Parts: sequence; C-alpha cells; structure tokens
Amino acid sequence: MSAVVVVGAGPVGLTAALTLARRGVHVTVLEQGDKLATESRASTFHPPTLEMLAELGVLKPLLVRGIIASTFQYRERGGGEIATLDLSVLAEDTAYPFRVQCEQSRLTPILLSALPSHASVRFGYRVEGLYPSEEGVIVHTSRGPVLADWVIGADGAHSAVRRTLGAGFDGSTYPERFLVASVAEDLEAALPGIAPINYVFDPDEWLVLLRTPAHWRVLLPTPTDTPDDDELSRLPDRLTAVADLGRPWRLLHASLYQVHQRVTESFRHGRVLLAGDAAHVNNPLGGMGMNSGIHDAVHLATALADVLSGAPESDLDTVATRRRTVAIDHVQRTSHDNWQRLRTQDPAYHDHLRALAASPTAARAYLRRACLLDSLENQP
Ligand SMILES: Cc1cc2nc3c(=O)[nH]c(=O)nc-3n(C[C@H](O)[C@H](O)[C@H](O)COP(=O)(O)OP(=O)(O)OC[C@H]3O[C@@H](n4cnc5c(N)ncnc54)[C@H](O)[C@@H]3O)c2cc1C
Repeated sequence: MSAVVVVGAGPVGLTAALTLARRGVHVTVLEQGDKLATESRASTFHPPTLEMLAELGVLKPLLVRGIIASTFQYRERGGGEIATLDLSVLAEDTAYPFRVQCEQSRLTPILLSALPSHASVRFGYRVEGLYPSEEGVIVHTSRGPVLADWVIGADGAHSAVRRTLGAGFDGSTYPERFLVASVAEDLEAALPGIAPINYVFDPDEWLVLLRTPAHWRVLLPTPTDTPDDDELSRLPDRLTAVADLGRPWRLLHASLYQVHQRVTESFRHGRVLLAGDAAHVNNPLGGMGMNSGIHDAVHLATALADVLSGAPESDLDTVATRRRTVAIDHVQRTSHDNWQRLRTQDPAYHDHLRALAASPTAARAYLRRACLLDSLENQP
C-alpha cells in the first residue's frame, strides 16, 4: 500500500509529493499522461512561492532557468507607462523580493527529479474513481486499483477526484475568452521602457505583456461566441496594433481558452484532500493560480504529514478550511479586481497607482497582497 496517493503530476501534485516525501512519507503520484505536460501555462513565481521552493531544495535550478523580474508596470494603451511597481520594497518581508518569470513546465521536471526513492510517479495511470474501504481508499485507475491511506486530488480543473466525490465547483465563467500568443519578438526594443511584466489598461482591448526565458507572451481578451479560426486570423492585426514593427509579428504559438472563477465546497472529504486547480480556479491576471496551488500543496501536505506522525486530524481540517478561505478572499478577489481594473480608464485609479509607486510604504502594503504574502499570515 502507498501511504499517500497524489493524483496528477502538475506543479501542485509534485509539490505535495515532494513535501510529503521529505517528511519520510511513502507517496505514489498517478499521472494520466505518459510524460509531464509541456504546454505553456503559468509563468510567474511570486516571492512566497520562491520561499517554499527554496525550503524544498528546488529553487536554485528554477532560478537558473528563469528571469528575475524586480519590477512590473501598469500602462495605458497608446499612452505609455502609468506606474512601475518595484518589488524591492518587500526586502524586509521576504528573502526573494522579486518575481521569477519561468514556465511551469520547467518547474515540474525539477520537482520530479528531486523526489527521493520512497516517492514514485506512475505515468499512464488515469484515475477513474475513488472508493473508501476499511483499509483506506481504493483508487480505481485505467490500469487497475491502487490502495492508499490518504489521497490528494491535484488533477486540475476537470478533476476526476472532485467529480467522484460529488463535490460542487460553484462560481462563474468570464464573459470573454483569453487568447495567449507566444512571439519571437524583442518587445523591449519595440516598446522601449517596458518591464518584464506589463498590465496594459484599455476598456475595449486590455492586454498583458509577459517576458519568459524563451519568448514574450501577449494575453488578449477575445469574445466567447466567435469561431477560433476567425480569432486566430485577426491576431496578426491585433499584434500590429500593440506595436507596429513594419512587418507581421513572428508568432510561435497561440491558444484560446475559457476562464472561470470557481471553488469547491471543502478541500477535505474524509481521507481525500483537494488542492490546486482541482479545488479552485481563477483568471490568470496577477499570476495566482499556480502560486496559490503550490501554497495549498505545501500547507495541506505538511498538515497531512503531521497527522501521519500523530497530530489530531482536526489540525488538517483547520488548514483545509484556511486554504479555501485564501482561495476566495485573496486569490479570487484579487484576480477578479485585476480583471475589472484592466478594463477601466478611470484617471483617479491611474493617479492612485502613481501614488502607490511613489510611496514605499503604500507600495509594500499593495505588493504584499498582490504576491500572496498577506494570504499566508496567521496560518494555523
Ligand atoms: C493559459 C494559462 C495561463 C496561465 N497563467 C498563469 C500564471 O501566469 N500564473 C499562475 O499562477 N497560474 C496561471 N495559470 C493557471 C495554472 O496553470 C494552474 O493554476 C496550474 O497549472 C495548476 O496546477 P495543478 O497542478 O493544480 O493542475 P494542472 O497543472 O492542470 O495539473 C494536473 C495534472 O493532473 C493530471 N490529471 C488530470 N486528470 C487526471 C486523472 N483523472 N488521473 C490522473 N492524472 C490526471 C493532468 O494530466 C496534469 O498533469 C494559467 C493557466 C492557463 C490555462
């Protein structure tokens, strides 16, 4: 028997597995894919996440692969910079007062290779159901049953673990899709003065410009009811409107996706825990999905390791409840505010941002919330 089965070898599942394994717990990760996912998704690591990865011994290789971003910018479409926020004001709060720009697909191989021998990852195991038994939880997979004392469902937004539990996923779907384009252009040359991360305000067509080690990414809002092909064919013109290079932008990849804000009713169901996208999803503005999911993984896995060492199960309930509160009060609220504000052209709000940037005290309070440091205070 595996003491703990983690479902899903994404950033959240592998962080949970490593946290447990470093406490001596036997862990098996079941992953439906035949290898780690390589798709382009989250690309920002916030300071508290960097602290947790350092504690797990995996930060150094991530820093080698990533870009350190000490600032980010709010900009006005066509009007240039509104305010630049400098994360160095967090120097007394964290050993890592910066964001690291690096794709999540570069973290997962680092986590995988850090797993000790009493943790294993089985690829090609699709979890289809869970059944409590006298001995623990029977996990039904595409390759037969696996018995576990405890299960952590980290199998993403369409979580089979969550569905098997019959747990709800209440919330809403945003009235626009997001289009992410990766481009082989040097946007620092095309838009002099931009930061590695830029939120560009506009009521009709807000956008985000993000630098990653391999390329720049452009995030644009897109209607929900238009054919994908139409949206992709008008993308070159939309990119030219961002910066006219005198030729079409070199496009590497583009994808459209629907964005939801949802949370499940409980992160603990008996001997089954839910973490990361399996438990909560939000829009990507502010880079909070993967980060808060990694925080879920570290906190829930630590509490579970404590229970396996004799701590009362009520401690695990406290942590599970706290993580759900963080998902609603911090992650959803902040990312939704970010979405609403990108669509406004309120000069008073722009003045507010300029005042924030000019005041280290105000900037510190703002950035503590924006990078989820505040969400980790008063942890049980
Ligand atoms: C385009 C895009 C951009 C994003 N940008 C950001 C960003 O900038 N910052 C940020 O913080 N977040 C961002 N996010 C969100 C972020 O990618 C997710 O929050 C993050 O991937 C969640 O990690 P996870 O491990 O919970 O789930 P996932 O990464 O989805 O991993 C789940 C794993 O479970 C496996 N799995 C699924 N079902 C089963 C099953 N039945 N059996 C076994 N295995 C299964 C999957 O194959 C996968 O490997 C973005 C998301 C998207 C789509």
